[in-house]
Amino acid sequence: MLGSVIDAIGNTPLIRLRRASEETGCEILGKAEFMNPGQSVKDRAGLFIIRDAEKRGLLRPGGVIVEGTAGNTGIGLTVVAKALGYRTVIVIPDTQSQEKKDALRVLGAELIEVPAVPYKNPNNYVKVSGRLAEQLARTEPNGAIWANQFDNIANRDGHIRTTAEEIWTGTQGKVDGFVSAVGTGGTLAGVAMGLKAKRKDVKIALADPLGAALYSFYTTGELKAEGSSITEGIGQGRITANLDGFTPDFSFQIPDEEALPIVFDLVQEEGLCLGGSTGINIAGAIRLARELGPGHTIVTVLADYGTRYQSKMFNPSFLRSKNLPVPEWMDRTPEISV
Ligand code: PMP
Repeated sequence: MLGSVIDAIGNTPLIRLRRASEETGCEILGKAEFMNPGQSVKDRAGLFIIRDAEKRGLLRPGGVIVEGTAGNTGIGLTVVAKALGYRTVIVIPDTQSQEKKDALRVLGAELIEVPAVPYKNPNNYVKVSGRLAEQLARTEPNGAIWANQFDNIANRDGHIRTTAEEIWTGTQGKVDGFVSAVGTGGTLAGVAMGLKAKRKDVKIALADPLGAALYSFYTTGELKAEGSSITEGIGQGRITANLDGFTPDFSFQIPDEEALPIVFDLVQEEGLCLGGSTGINIAGAIRLARELGPGHTIVTVLADYGTRYQSKMFNPSFLRSKNLPVPEWMDRTPEISV
């Protein structure tokens, strides 16, 4: 029995990805982060950020946690906040999926939608959330804090202390490589640091979507972005505090055309219904497997559950509007009638 929903965060299983493993001759394993109570990897960041603020004496009972998020961190923070007696105020760009906004409202977050503008714009959702936290710290009777997931290294620390440990024990120390995309960088840098402390030669790879600047940074030293991606929750244009002191051994740039068929095949052939960032992650794992050669064990992250994107990535008209290929089964009408 668990004491509360908080104890259900983490200790997720590693699931063998059959097709990716067969195609590469490696063991490609997905850390099933969609099995967290908030259905994403960001429950861990939510928990560690809140516990860290408590330890520092920054959070009072009934206090408010403010955050700018593509949705999943807001969900993770809200699950933990509700269990511990805090409130959340979540600022989200209006481009994010309706399903994530609905989940936040159902969980009881106070949701503020803002137009999606680049980070350098003062009205970017992250900056709006920082200003709002300052304001609420002055006006709320129980105070307010800014979770600040991008530059709060309690996020990365959570992955050093839990995700990396779990991958190490879950593979009995056999992990040869780890791959992930970056939103804040907490997952990639945290798991990298945790695993490298155990085995220096474990290979770490960045899987970057188009439209992000990290592939360019780690291959040429220049923060430069080109193209775009429909994936949500990933794609970074700057070196966040969570990425500070981290360098990947390999960097891959993954177009949506490579990642989406992986997500669509997984749901049809392996019963795994996952979000778009997971497609980028698995495409990255396949590329790392090709670099390392057969016989290696490579771990990546099954970052969130696919029903969160029913209206977008799993919707044929949305895919067509983005000029992306629609898998044949998605358009099929049922053959059985009653
Ligand atoms: N995938 C999804 C679906 C996410 O929501 C996020 C976080 N925004 C990530 C991947 C990236 O995780 P991190 O912030 O730890 O880099």
